[in-house]
Amino acid sequence: MQTRYFGDLITPYRILENGEVAVNEDGIITYVGARREKAPGEVLDYSGDLISPGFIDLHLHGGGGHDFMDATVDAFLGAAEMHARHGTTTMLPTSLTSSDEDLFAFFDVYRVARRENLRGSRMPGVHLEGPYFAKSQKGAQDERYIVEPKPEHYEKILARCPEIARWSVAAELPGALELGHYLRSRGILASLGHTDAMYDDAVLALENGYTLLTHFYSGMSGLVRKNAYRVPGLIDAGYMLDFDVEIIADGHHLPYSLLNYIYRAKGAGRVALITDSLRGAGMPDGESILGSLTTGQKCYIEDGVCKMPDRKAFAGSVATTDRLVRNMVKHALVPLPDAVRMATATPARIMGWTDCGVLAPGLRADLLVFDHEINVKRTVIGGNCVFEG
Ligand SMILES: [Zn+2]
Repeated sequence: MQTRYFGDLITPYRILENGEVAVNEDGIITYVGARREKAPGEVLDYSGDLISPGFIDLHLHGGGGHDFMDATVDAFLGAAEMHARHGTTTMLPTSLTSSDEDLFAFFDVYRVARRENLRGSRMPGVHLEGPYFAKSQKGAQDERYIVEPKPEHYEKILARCPEIARWSVAAELPGALELGHYLRSRGILASLGHTDAMYDDAVLALENGYTLLTHFYSGMSGLVRKNAYRVPGLIDAGYMLDFDVEIIADGHHLPYSLLNYIYRAKGAGRVALITDSLRGAGMPDGESILGSLTTGQKCYIEDGVCKMPDRKAFAGSVATTDRLVRNMVKHALVPLPDAVRMATATPARIMGWTDCGVLAPGLRADLLVFDHEINVKRTVIGGNCVFEG
């Protein structure tokens, strides 16, 4: 028996008012189009509400009081379930720069959690944020564990975790271009992050397999003046070259004016919305911990963002994907279908995932129902309702 959802569809390439999405027992979309008068199956009538593909978050560290570096199954499942309630149906749990021992514990627990995950966002792979970074751009990453990429090191890491889907690296480091090639040859997305790369380094990175800029603007260079000459930085390269960019659209890391400008300059097909959220996402204001409970650093949640103890830098965000989309529409003045596209079809395309991110027959039934304020009313993953608000 199939389930038929009635509502206004955002595919996200078009809006289809009074449309229908039908889902079969295997959790696959079988029909997307005008509402049919007669068809078999149960009707769930969300007339007046919006139906879109589930949101995809390519960069997050936790939520609901959990950080993936806690390396417990509960942490992965708790964060996955909290984010699913806010519209995330696919996510890449992201590590922090850590000891190999802690990283391997993160892998081992991820594998178990992925198997046991029934009510949370899907976790088709993991994202490594570190340890190959520029110390000068470390941000909230732990400097003690930052090293240069060496084949014997990254081959060991990859052997331990074949599910690595994405790796953020400072591409100006010795050995980083070889790593770019290596990752690309294995189908892993190579991303540039926490880096001192300037424009010329970015060109080399692009030629050697790096295609995405990790949290655009944060942890990277802008244009500088060296004596009489202006030298474009990685931010400039982000606009000038064929990079995809991901943006923390929580309304704190980047001002709304800039979020609007990035959207206009790059287009919805090149920009992915990410939360980069920490354990404080979905939690009340107060003291929190960045990274694992045992070895992490203290930080504070206030004003809807997570700050380092000196309040001079952000430790990360506490956003959820529904808030990102709402911000882009309400404050960054982006049309709703494009805001949804940056949280669905674009991240799927960046990762090369062809089974999600769009409402179309044959794809996984990962879909959302939300109202015009982007309040999630229902989250469906693989045809199963995991949240009803
Ligand atoms: Zn991050």
